[in-house]
Order: sequence, then structure tokens, then C-alpha cells
Amino acid sequence: MKVAIYVRVSTDEQAKEGFSIPAQRERLRAFCASQGWEIVQEYIEEGWSAKDLDRPQMQRLLKDIKKGNIDIVLVYRLDRLTRSVLDLYLLLQTFEKHNVAFRSATEVYDTSTAMGRLFITLVAALAQWERENLAERVKFGIEQMIDEGKKPGGHSPYGYKFDKDFNCTIIEEEADVVRMIYRMYCDGYGYRSIADRLNELRVKPRIAKEWNHNSVRDILTNDIYIGTYRWGDKVVPNNHPPIISETLFKKAQKEKEKRGVDRKRVGKFLFTGLLQCGNCGGHKMQGSFDKREQKTYYRCTKCHRITNEKNILEPLLDEIQLLITSKEYFMSKFSDRYDQQEVVDVSALTKELEKIKRQKEKWYDLYMDDRNPIPKEELFAKINELNKKEEEIYSKLSEVEEDKEPVEEKYNRLSKMIDFKQQFEQANDFTKKELLFSIFEKIVIYREKGKLKKITLDYTLK
Ligand SMILES: [Zn+2]
Repeated sequence: MKVAIYVRVSTDEQAKEGFSIPAQRERLRAFCASQGWEIVQEYIEEGWSAKDLDRPQMQRLLKDIKKGNIDIVLVYRLDRLTRSVLDLYLLLQTFEKHNVAFRSATEVYDTSTAMGRLFITLVAALAQWERENLAERVKFGIEQMIDEGKKPGGHSPYGYKFDKDFNCTIIEEEADVVRMIYRMYCDGYGYRSIADRLNELRVKPRIAKEWNHNSVRDILTNDIYIGTYRWGDKVVPNNHPPIISETLFKKAQKEKEKRGVDRKRVGKFLFTGLLQCGNCGGHKMQGSFDKREQKTYYRCTKCHRITNEKNILEPLLDEIQLLITSKEYFMSKFSDRYDQQEVVDVSALTKELEKIKRQKEKWYDLYMDDRNPIPKEELFAKINELNKKEEEIYSKLSEVEEDKEPVEEKYNRLSKMIDFKQQFEQANDFTKKELLFSIFEKIVIYREKGKLKKITLDYTLK
């Protein structure tokens, strides 16, 4: 048995008794003698912490392992090797690949038993957890660069002030504007009308004279507002205090995607992107303008039936007025619809989560089976797969919570638009469209046959 002993003391441990290099080395030599092992190499690391594997003797040890010169690595205690579970996991993988056993003189880790395999599984699970917390380390990297005088350049972004030492302060007035921009956007307003609104309120951007489409968009797509710092290709989450929540940020990005995909706001027609034909099962209706008659029509893309815009707009405006002014009417229409939906979704998803948890346990049981254990790789693959599913469900659940605006609040939001009709009539086409989009998710029209062609509206609120 070719044994390598690895001894490490950090600078602040050097004074401590029992941790000194001679003390560790003596015990390890005695241990080897008792087992009848031969020490082929000693790796003595002095004054290095276990923060990472970037230590001279550790690197030498790894090199020798890869050369095949070593059968066993012996340490006094596991934390001599590393304090990072992620690094331990990587080390154990390297050891295994080169058929190197790992022993601690004071702790028991025997990877040939079920108990030992459980240890490795735990290390893997913890390693994954640690990987998710890597941010701290990257952050350390940036701090180090700053210490070395390599400062991230550029202006402080709107809402923040970064001083020369990279300390971050939130500028409260600006932060309020950022929050307002995100909320308006999620409420259905577009870049241009948000910019207009800010200019109306005489809110000034940092450098430019006025807000415009681009400056609003830049704020809405910058994840610096959830605390992420980007510098070159380095990305540091939780680098500084956030101005908006991650939930709101994600909501805005989703909204942007949605608007981008169906481009429903593009075009001058009021209802394009909002209107569906109920007669043939919800096909889109496209607007067109009849020059001769000076009228706007909507045509179903499937059954080609056409409807005059005026015939939709008039009853719709009445309907909106009714929704705004009568809570009773609003509730009679919506209290069932919005409340039930959520209950079903959440309970189904929660059940799914429980199922995944049971499946995980089952795989762990199979792995722990002493007679016929499944291979570690299979376990990891299965667990990773289940973790992925779990993540998807969690993200769905957080969506439900986001959308879980109680029907009461939906009404409160709407009831504030008390002068809707007046506002709508005075607005330009662009703002009219934004107003409708801020209330409705979709509008479905049903036309009856016959001379009167009575129109019924069905709709989903934003
Ligand atoms: Zn149709």
C-alpha cells in the first residue's frame, strides 16, 4: 500500500496545540505503522486555508494521484483536506477515478459499506447545495480584484450609487421611479407610455433630458435591480441590495416575452391581439380599415366573419363602466372564476411534489440496499431528474402565488379607474389601446345570426 499523508495548518491554526505540523505528522506516521502501511510521500501545507484547492501541496498531491503513484490518501481529519463540500465531492470523484482510497486517522469513512455510500450521497447533496451558494465566492473574486486596484468601470446605474470602493447605496427617489416603471409595465403599460408618464411627472433621468422608449426598456431588462452585478462575463447574484423583488423582475421579463411573441400591441387597431372569435372556438380577429366607409372592422382569421369595431366598443365601454361602478356586478361575474382556479392548481402541484419526494426516498432506499444496490451514477441521475421536476413545480407554484391576486383586489384596482370612460374618449389611439390592455387579458365575441346580429361579450381580466 503506497500511502500519501497530507498535513495542513492555516496561519491562524499554527499557534494551536495539537494542530501543529509535527503533531499531525507524528500521529499519521503512528497510524500507518499500526496498519503496516508504507508512506511514500508527505505533503505538508503550511499557512494555507481550506478555502479552495488552489494550494501548492494539494496540487502536487493531485498530480501524483493522476500519475498512479498513490493507493491511499491519509489525513488527520477531513477538514485538513477541505472545508468545502463541493471541493470534497470533486476530490472524492478524482480519488475514485484513479482507484485511490481516502482515510482519516480520526474519523471513519469507509466507502465499501452502505453507510459509507450514504456518506458520499450526503456529500453529493451538500455539494449541490454549496454550488448554489457559489455566489459568495465569485463575489470574493470581485472584491479581490478591487483590492488589486482593478475596479469595475462605468457609471453607477440609475437608482444606485457605487463609490470608488464599490460600496453600494440606494438613491431612494430614483429607486421609487424604478419600482414605478416595473409596476406600470406589469400592469400593461408599454415603454412609450411609461416614458410619457414620467416626463409628465417631471421625473428626470440621470443624464438625458427626458425619458424615452429605450431608457425605460433598459431599466426593465437590467437585473442589477434585483442585486445582480455583471462585469465582463462575471455574474454576481446578491451583490448589493435589490430595489425590486425577484418575483416582480421575473414577471416583467415574462410580460416582455409575451408581448414580443405575439406582438399583439403592434398595429394601430384597438383590439388586435385582444379579440377572439367565439363562434369558431377562439380564433384571432384581425383589424382592417375600410376607407370607403371610414370604418374599422375585425375579421376572424378562421371563419372570416366580420364585426364592426363600433359594435364591440360600445357595449364593452358600458360593461367596463358597470364593472367599475358596481362591486356587486363585478363579484357576481368573477368571484367564482378567479377563486376556484387557484385551489385546483395548487393542490395538484403540491400532490405532485409529495410524489416526487416519495420517489426520491425510493431511489435512496434502492441505493442503500445491501444485497443489490443500484450504482451511484444511476442514483445521481434519478435524483437530478427528480430535482429538475421539483424545480419546475416550484416555479409554477410561485407563478400561481404571483397571479393570486384575490378577486377583491382585482376589483379595487379597477374601481380606481372611476373616470375611465372620459379618459378613454380623450385619449389618442395608442393610449386607448394601452387602457384596454391594462384591463383585459382577452375578449371573446359571439355573434348571433339573423338581422339584429346581437353581440355577446365574454372576457378575462388582466
Ligand atoms: Zn371565427
